[in-house]
Amino acid sequence: MTGRFERALVTGGAGFVGSHLCERLLDDGTEVVAADNFATADTGNIAPLLDHPAFRLLSRDVTLPIAAPSSFDVVFHLASAASPRDYFRLPLETLRAGSYGTENALDIAERDSARFVLASTSEVYGDPREHPQREDYWGHVNPIGPRSVYDEAKRYAEALTAAVRRERSVNTGIARIFNTYGPRMRSDDGRMIPTFLTQALSGEPLTVAGTGQQTRSLCYVEDTVRGLLALAGSDFPGPVNLGNPHELTVLAIAEEILSVTGSSSAIEYIDAAVDDPARRCPDISLARRELGWAPEIDLAQGLPLTVDWYVRKNPLEPLH
Ligand code: NAD
Ligand code: UDP
Repeated sequence: MTGRFERALVTGGAGFVGSHLCERLLDDGTEVVAADNFATADTGNIAPLLDHPAFRLLSRDVTLPIAAPSSFDVVFHLASAASPRDYFRLPLETLRAGSYGTENALDIAERDSARFVLASTSEVYGDPREHPQREDYWGHVNPIGPRSVYDEAKRYAEALTAAVRRERSVNTGIARIFNTYGPRMRSDDGRMIPTFLTQALSGEPLTVAGTGQQTRSLCYVEDTVRGLLALAGSDFPGPVNLGNPHELTVLAIAEEILSVTGSSSAIEYIDAAVDDPARRCPDISLARRELGWAPEIDLAQGLPLTVDWYVRKNPLEPLH
């Protein structure tokens, strides 16, 4: 599917999802330029790619016009803080990445007549009142709360992408990515999976927020990347949900992590996050129909792969 791309620009290419996407594109024979300002990146993510002859890393803040050589046939716009801890810390930067950053990435796609793929998010549904979430649900978002810097930036990014498609005939696709996990998430990014894994592997209590009865649906990163590539390889405008519809409570996920790591860590309840969505689960019928995409790696396969990576990365951390 991706073999058709000669040259890709990946904004946010040094991040968690971006680095996996760059790697997969390179494997498919695509020349890749990654543009990143390392605001939330772990530079170790792309260290192994730096010697690849078809890979180039540009240090760029995409909220400024992106000075990138032409010509790309696909532009993936992933640059943005993505973890609540990161966007609470970088509120204005996150708004800018969604607004100016998206505009600048769209400009490159227009310049090069490239396919454009926006990494949007399930957060556009806010704390949803409909389950599972379908793409035609307009969402339930607090426009001024602390999460709004991310949710509203992505909603704006979608609006901008749709308008540029209508007004300037840029070939755009919008992916609404649901919670994705896997190797290379920063241990300190504050998201549930790296936090629980790091805690379980070091014998610390797992910090479950609120009652732990809120739900998430976890997609392994390889599946998400395959979905982004399927969207890029189509002309489908989206928005289209990319996620794994297996919905679990946060407490059940914490217990699964204790079981996979063999850890005897306790569960510690901490305050719920502000405006934390109570339920999240994608309806993926559109992705199945339009892209022929569905996740293939379930939690029973993906969690051990992720644990192995964390253990290899921190070999001195004991398993309890
Ligand atoms: P990440 O924080 O690991 O990666 C984001 C990357 O963007 C980082 O390398 C960061 O340095 C870079 N970046 C941020 N602002 C930038 C700027 N102004 N200029 C250049 N680079 C900048 O996050 P991730 O989990 O890999 O998420 C990647 C994308 O996917 C984001 O757009 C995110 O909103 C979207 N997404 C991710 C998930 C998920 O569960 N991982 C879910 C929904 C949507
Ligand atoms: N969460 C938790 N403990 C943590 C980190 C997160 O219980 O140490 C909860 C969080 O409150 C939310 C869920 O796990 O209900 C997923 O949070 P994450 O930050 O991974 O992503 P979100 O889906 O909120 O963007």
